[in-house]
This record gives sequence, C-alpha cells and structure tokens, in this order.
Amino acid sequence: MYKDIATPVRTKAILDKYGFSFKKSLGQNFLIDPNVLRNIVSQAHLTENSGAIEVGPGIGALTEHLARGAKKVVSFEIDQRLLPVLEDTLSPYDNVTIVHSDILKADVEAVIAEQMPHIDDIMVVANLPYYVTTPILMKLLNDRLPIRGFVVMMQKEVADRITAKPGTKAYGSLSIAIQYYCTAEVAMIVPKTVFMPQPNVDSAVIRLIKHNKPPVEVIDEDFLFVVTRASFVQRRKTIFNNLQAGLQHGKAKKDEILAALEAANIDPKRRGETLTIEEFGRLADALHPHFA
Ligand code: SAM
Repeated sequence: MYKDIATPVRTKAILDKYGFSFKKSLGQNFLIDPNVLRNIVSQAHLTENSGAIEVGPGIGALTEHLARGAKKVVSFEIDQRLLPVLEDTLSPYDNVTIVHSDILKADVEAVIAEQMPHIDDIMVVANLPYYVTTPILMKLLNDRLPIRGFVVMMQKEVADRITAKPGTKAYGSLSIAIQYYCTAEVAMIVPKTVFMPQPNVDSAVIRLIKHNKPPVEVIDEDFLFVVTRASFVQRRKTIFNNLQAGLQHGKAKKDEILAALEAANIDPKRRGETLTIEEFGRLADALHPHFA
C-alpha cells in the first residue's frame, strides 16, 4: 500500500513541488484526512467489481481511495494545472482514467460506455466543488446514467435541504427534485479542519440511492417541478396564493387552481412545505390540463 496523498504533510509537499495555488472560484478545498476518505468510500459500498465516477479529483486524495476499492475509476477535472500532478500522484494505480472536462459539459454516458463497458454497479463518489453542487447533481440525474447512486460531500446547508422531510424548514423544491429520483440521507457531518484550505461553511456527506421507480407517477415530470418550484416561492404564503402568483395566468384561473386542489384533496390554506411528493404529484396532474 502506498502512502496516502491526503496527509497534511504529503499534500503540502505535492502542492509545493508543483507550485500549485488554490483557485477559490473552482471550489478547491482538498481533503487532508485519510480517515474521512475511508469513511466516504465505505458509505458507497463498493466491491471489487464496482465502478466509481468522481467529479473533481484535485490532487487525487479521494481518487486513490476509490482506486483501491473499485475496479475502475473515472474522474472529471476542469483545472488543467492538475493534470500533471494527477499523473504523478496516481501513477501507482492502473485503474484510473482522468478526463479533462467540465463535468457540466461532459457526455458522461458516453464516457461510462467507453470506460466501464462491463461494469454494472456504478456509484458517483465525490467531494464536490460547492459553487456548482446542485447543477452537478441535477445534470447527473437528468442524464439518466446507469448508476446506483451518489455519495457526495457538499455544504451542510445544501445537504440538509436535499435530505429534508415535509414539515421542516429545510424542505423545499430542491428536496423534491432530488427525492423524486433517489432516497436521500445525510451519511456524515464533516468538520472544516479536514480541508486545505478550510472552507467557510460546514460540510456533510450525503448518500443518494436511485429509486427503481419514482415515488409518484405523474403525467409530466417537468410540470411536477414547475408546480413544486411555484409552491415554495414565498414560503409563508399558502399553496393557493403561491400557485396563483407562480403559475402562468394563475391569477386569471383561480377557479381552476381551487378545483385542482380539491381534486387532489389538498386544503388551499396549507403551505407548500407540508406537502409530500405524492401530494405534489396528485396536484400537478390535476393542474396539468389547465397550466401545462
Ligand atoms: N477530490 C479532491 C479532494 O477531495 O481533495 C478535490 C475536491 S475540491 C472540493 C473540487 C474539485 O473539483 C477541484 O479539483 C476543482 O478543480 C474541481 N472542479 C471544479 N469545478 C469543476 C467542474 N465544473 N467540473 C469538473 N471538476 C471541477
């Protein structure tokens, strides 16, 4: 076994060797604690036949732990300056491919088909760049990739919103957008001290496992998300008021909104934050003929 990249001493030595300076704009906060890395990887339940997709390898701290626990690792890095570093630090591992690309623009499905043709258990495992956490998750979910799920580090506040249950302050359209596709839970809370440089915010690792089928069947998925977003625009307002303000021609079609709420068996005076995904699904289907 090789010495971990992610000790403070080794990380500093690698950064010095390459004269690397962190780019805040790319969310570069590298992990310097091998225990945290081991815990992240164990949350993914990989086997020697699994594949791992990583976003943002940095200098390879998490990548090497994935390389030890999976059959194949493909890692997308946007920062060209890290490519020679990774070539060096990951040289002991022959099962890692680095793709130089912005993950948001990458054809991840094609990369999986090319790099992991015979692997049928694939997890996304990453310490995400916090400035694009939500766009990355939404892209990878919308891409309908052949993956089991995600184990990803992010800002704790976003982790709380993603995993929130109805009736809580953190519950909102992001909770629904993710929980429509996956079960979502916080796997661990991570202190700032395990990063270099330390971020300003607390962090958490969440685990998302894709549903075999969504928790509610709807006529039109995109419209479900239109309805949920509209329902949370002003959290203190009732669902009826938010739908009037947020749906196209909502003000002119009050009666249709009231009828749809009744058909879905939802009191118009409730707030969006009390509705389950199933209730939003019923509501979206009832509104669909008039607003989609
Ligand atoms: N995995 C490393 C670790 O844990 O030490 C680094 C994690 S750091 C929080 C985020 C990484 O994502 C950086 O290496 C950064 O350059 C990279 N990154 C930022 N935006 C990206 C994007 N749009 N696509 C791919 N990589 C990105």
